[in-house]
Amino acid sequence: LTSGLESAWNKLKGEEVLTKENIVEPMRDIRRALLEADVSLPVVRRFVQTVSEQAVGVGVIRGVKPDQQLVKIVSDELVKLMGGEVSELTFAKSGPTVILLAGLQGVGKTTVSAKLALYLKKQGKSCMLIAGDVYRPAAIDQLVILGKQVDVPVYTAGTDVKPADIARQGLQEAKKQNVDVIIMDTAGRLQIDKSMMDELKDVKRVLNPTEVLLVVDAMTGQEAAALVTTFNLEIGITGAILTKLDGDSRGGAALSVKEVSGKPIKLVGRGERMEDLEPFYPDRMAGRILGMGDVLSFVEKAQEVMKQEDAEDLQKKIMTAKFDFNDFLKQTRAVARMGSMSRVLGMIPGMGKVTPAQIREAEKSLQIMEAMIEVMTPEEREQPELLAESPARRKRIAQESGKTEQQVSQLVAQLFQMRVRMKNLMGAMEGGSVPALSN
Ligand code: GDP
Ligand code: MG
Repeated sequence: LTSGLESAWNKLKGEEVLTKENIVEPMRDIRRALLEADVSLPVVRRFVQTVSEQAVGVGVIRGVKPDQQLVKIVSDELVKLMGGEVSELTFAKSGPTVILLAGLQGVGKTTVSAKLALYLKKQGKSCMLIAGDVYRPAAIDQLVILGKQVDVPVYTAGTDVKPADIARQGLQEAKKQNVDVIIMDTAGRLQIDKSMMDELKDVKRVLNPTEVLLVVDAMTGQEAAALVTTFNLEIGITGAILTKLDGDSRGGAALSVKEVSGKPIKLVGRGERMEDLEPFYPDRMAGRILGMGDVLSFVEKAQEVMKQEDAEDLQKKIMTAKFDFNDFLKQTRAVARMGSMSRVLGMIPGMGKVTPAQIREAEKSLQIMEAMIEVMTPEEREQPELLAESPARRKRIAQESGKTEQQVSQLVAQLFQMRVRMKNLMGAMEGGSVPALSN
């Protein structure tokens, strides 16, 4: 997918703006790349149309090239296509949360059962697994072994009991043990058939589950979206889990599931280890598909700057050295937003790593600054000189914000440093009024 899209961007090199004409060729490449990634045709059609419409209507952002702009539009639309936000698991308001897993044979249900138990255990929830695949004794053994690995109890009743009865007994046992989450593994078939659907319906009736998650193999491409749709119509599901994303799947499944079935992908499996289960992040997925994290963040930053309607106003303030605490706060917040964005983009290969510790540090110091600025009077915010001149004011701010006088002094000094730096910067841009250093 990535290489196909690469040629789309390349075709825009040297262009000034995106037009109806010059996006025709790149859009054709995008269309081909999506189809090759096994995204279903109707989804591709809609996608290409939406992107084309937006691309033509988009204005010029100073310093951003048309190919970069198109990357950004495609990325935003990919994220939307995949459901936008992370779709969290739902938990029961009272009593145990019950999760029923369904899916064809070999897609990774049994593995996911244990992975999910470990995942929830890490969130402090106690779990119990129920072995509902009664067709192969080996399937029960497999779950028992995996259960031991993640140290979660497994309820089994052998192969002679009907799955719905196992569900009932397991549920009782779990309630007796006051378990937070019950996860039931079920038997798959090679393909959809009536006996499987009937069995699942019976189990569902007994369990009254909080979540019914269909496990699908990413390697099946657009077939995955069709499966999610069918299972949803037949038994009613709440979402999907996409497995084997570590393999050489072409990504089509991730792109189509939500759009085709209306149900979100909630979790993804990307390996055989028990730890290899994580929430599905549409934005990270889009970034991986595009492999262009640096371009995305660049365009976003440029947009951020554009969005500051008062940018000119700000410039004037800087020129006249009027940059005050209100501006300071605005600027710092914008930078903080970029920081948390880079946390997401940092997951993408090629992007510089910003460590979570660094981000936490930045967020913490922003909180401290905000606390101090909050207790300033409007005059103090607009005239930082008042604070520079008056230790009494600084003392008051320290007391009211619960910070030290030293921290307040630091903040004031920081503002004046920023004024100087910005003035120098603007001067340099205007054509060089940076003062020469005398020796
Ligand atoms: P079930 O028939 O749906 O219960 O599938 P299983 O849980 O038995 O898994 C079938 C095979 O797929 C096993 O060999 C698993 O180790 C493997 N598997 C499951 N999930 C993943 C995954 O996310 N990545 C990889 N590479 N293999 C997986
Ligand atoms: Mg199984």
